[in-house]
Amino acid sequence: MGHVGRERAGMTRLVCIGGSDGGISAALRARELDPTAEIVVMLADAYPNFSICGIPYYISGDVADWHDLAHRSRADIEALDIELLTDTTARRIDVATHQVSATGATGREQTIGYDRLVIATGAVPAMPPIAGLNRLGPADGAHLLHTMSDAHAVMHSVAARQPDHVAIVGAGYIGLEMAEALRARGIAVSVLEALPHVLPTLDGPLGDLVANELTAHGVQVRTSTVVNAISPEGNELSVHAVPTGTDKGAAPLELRAGMVLVVTGVTPDTALAREAGVPLTPKGAIRADRHMATGLPDIYAAGDCVLTHHALLGETYIPLGTTAHKQGRIAGENALGGQRAFEGSLGTQVVKIFDLVAARTGIRDHEATPAGYKPFTAAFVADDHKAYYPGATTVHVRMTGDLTTGRLLGVQMVGTVPSAVHKRIDTAATAIYAGLGVDQLDNLDLSYTPPLGSPWDVLQAAGQYWLSTSKSER
Ligand SMILES: Cc1cc2nc3c(=O)[nH]c(=O)nc-3n(C[C@H](O)[C@H](O)[C@H](O)COP(=O)(O)OP(=O)(O)OC[C@H]3O[C@@H](n4cnc5c(N)ncnc54)[C@H](O)[C@@H]3O)c2cc1C
Repeated sequence: MGHVGRERAGMTRLVCIGGSDGGISAALRARELDPTAEIVVMLADAYPNFSICGIPYYISGDVADWHDLAHRSRADIEALDIELLTDTTARRIDVATHQVSATGATGREQTIGYDRLVIATGAVPAMPPIAGLNRLGPADGAHLLHTMSDAHAVMHSVAARQPDHVAIVGAGYIGLEMAEALRARGIAVSVLEALPHVLPTLDGPLGDLVANELTAHGVQVRTSTVVNAISPEGNELSVHAVPTGTDKGAAPLELRAGMVLVVTGVTPDTALAREAGVPLTPKGAIRADRHMATGLPDIYAAGDCVLTHHALLGETYIPLGTTAHKQGRIAGENALGGQRAFEGSLGTQVVKIFDLVAARTGIRDHEATPAGYKPFTAAFVADDHKAYYPGATTVHVRMTGDLTTGRLLGVQMVGTVPSAVHKRIDTAATAIYAGLGVDQLDNLDLSYTPPLGSPWDVLQAAGQYWLSTSKSER
């Protein structure tokens, strides 16, 4: 058994388990605050600080070299005097002695002592109950997608198997980004989704706009379709599915595909934390408080392994890179004695699907009602900029406000890439964070020039529409 890491007398030693958004953010913040602290980041794979959010753009070919997906190179991180232990898997945390036991690539066990620990082990892909899936893997053309190794495996399958058809199970944002990526390679794509609409983080009518965009780019979209079995069929895979919802009772479906991608969400990767006695939620996320403290002495947590404090909903689970970065920064600061609190996520999200962008922030009716709000949602359309200037396109908005207080609760938008819906959503996120009423949107001094907008921005016009249509309900 070896003992790794330098030990400097009198210095705080911070160990981060996880070398992605959460763990690296914690380490970087700690280094900003304390130039003398010993900081060690250990990660199970060989890809410290990679932007896994960029994987679809590597697979599409937009990013030619996977190395370019690194937010920072290994050398950049080490230049900050942060020790990186790659290919090193933490196996056990001994809370009493403040030690982590880990194994490296050779299988040799090491112990690493800590004064403060940040757990940022992230998430693992959810495994839906699909018969045969657990017997298949990349060698058969069956893929999950979460890590750089997964990305390499997909690229290998694309090159080696030359699939002319890929089936994607799951129409969340990763499934749709991958549909676009594979179409860019000239491969036929089917997307199979159990729910009635693609991109279920949006209301159905907006999901339908996204589905139309997918279809227009040659993606076969099958919603209300539950994949229940995948089996090898020669060099291909046979995907079996049954229709649900209003299509229930229709004939089962069988698709042949050279490759299958299963992207149906993630679950927190917390076996290590659980064994150490870290309190978890019923769904297995670390129950960190707003200071990212776990309740165990000197142990903090951040990222996809942690429950999400939501500014409107309380506790939920929304695994996103944006949140992991923020939580990691707070965990790193507090591990060195800080007192910063995570103010809460709003689930703000954006995704590009071919020529469209879909974005959302805040909450929708089905989330607002159980949380005690009295939501009203208005659907609104407007041009992204003055129609007399060439190139104006339609922005579709769904705005949700609370009928009792008038507070803005959520906004969803779908528009073209140049319509900048993501930045309009960011304005909405800022307004929700500030607790603004829908009527206060008019007070915001937003920018205007005819090629880019209107004197009343789309968000403000949607607010005015919400106020007029909700009047009879208030
Ligand atoms: C294809 C794709 C696209 C995405 N796009 C977006 C996007 O556009 N916007 C957005 O906000 N989010 C996006 N996300 C989500 C975002 O990437 C994650 O929320 C974020 O990476 C979570 O960071 P994390 O550090 O918590 O965990 P992870 O990225 O899951 O990293 C976990 C780290 O822990 C390490 N680890 C795990 N167990 C151990 C152990 N026992 N010992 C040592 N190390 C361990 C792993 O090696 C890894 O370094 C995307 C995700 C994917 C997969």
